[in-house]
Amino acid sequence: MSTSASSKSKSSLIPKSHPRAKSLLVREKLVQGFDAGLVAKEGLLAQGRGEAFDYLLGEKTGKAARNAIKAAAAQLLLADYPIISVNGNIAALCPRQIIRLAKQINAKLEVNLFYTSEKRKKAIVKILRENGAKEILGIDPKKATKLSGIDSARRIVDKNGIYAADVVVVPLEDGDRTSALRKAGKTVITFDLNPLSRTSQTANITIVDNVTRAVDLLREQSKKLAAKTNQKTLQKIIDEFNNKKNLSENIIQIKNNLTRRAGIA
Ligand code: ATP
Ligand code: MG
Repeated sequence: MSTSASSKSKSSLIPKSHPRAKSLLVREKLVQGFDAGLVAKEGLLAQGRGEAFDYLLGEKTGKAARNAIKAAAAQLLLADYPIISVNGNIAALCPRQIIRLAKQINAKLEVNLFYTSEKRKKAIVKILRENGAKEILGIDPKKATKLSGIDSARRIVDKNGIYAADVVVVPLEDGDRTSALRKAGKTVITFDLNPLSRTSQTANITIVDNVTRAVDLLREQSKKLAAKTNQKTLQKIIDEFNNKKNLSENIIQIKNNLTRRAGIA
């Protein structure tokens, strides 16, 4: 990724001993992504909302998130045509990890932006190619089609991508689009640190964790399940997963953290 001198020097200023070092380094990745034309201004703000929830969750992958990751892995292994939607934040935060996940589960990548811009799309495609992506969907205007239920450019998807998919992974997605994907009959898996967001509440499987931690965990879990689990067992994992219950567990995790921090438990 091309990196501006100012953001490079800033990340080297963060001492490893800083209590928020990890979070600050992730933030710098996003700022560098913004400077490189990958991330929209709104994407910076979305990260801020995510960070606040990450703080409340304890900045680690909890038990509920691990269960959601397992269900997501099972769902992806049973999918006929899985697609992973890539936006600017994902391209800036974890391009290599998302490509490795796609390879592991035999999914295709589609660049799909909320704040559409051809320039930003090109920058995202470039970073994905630099990180080893071969086939990238969502970039050929001849293959563009519309998903009903959302307005304007935000409904444009690739005919051979999200439009044709049975299972769609939409990390850091907007609520309206998640709902449109569900209405179009897709099974939706999302990564979203806010268990209260519309996306979290609408998706079939919500992984309430930071993408910077959870994408690798999902790949590892998919590899593990693929090696030793038959289709019936995979289906059982999915059937036993309840997204509403899982979201409640995440909310309780936040509540317990707050209770502990308030010194009242
Ligand atoms: P919704 O439209 O679903 O109600 P929203 O409008 O509150 O959500 P958006 O900006 O549409 O928020 O979506 C971004 C979502 O991504 C937010 O819920 C935010 O918490 C989450 N998010 C941001 N950064 C990360 C990250 N690094 N890992 C996981 N989730 C993140
Ligand atoms: Mg939104």
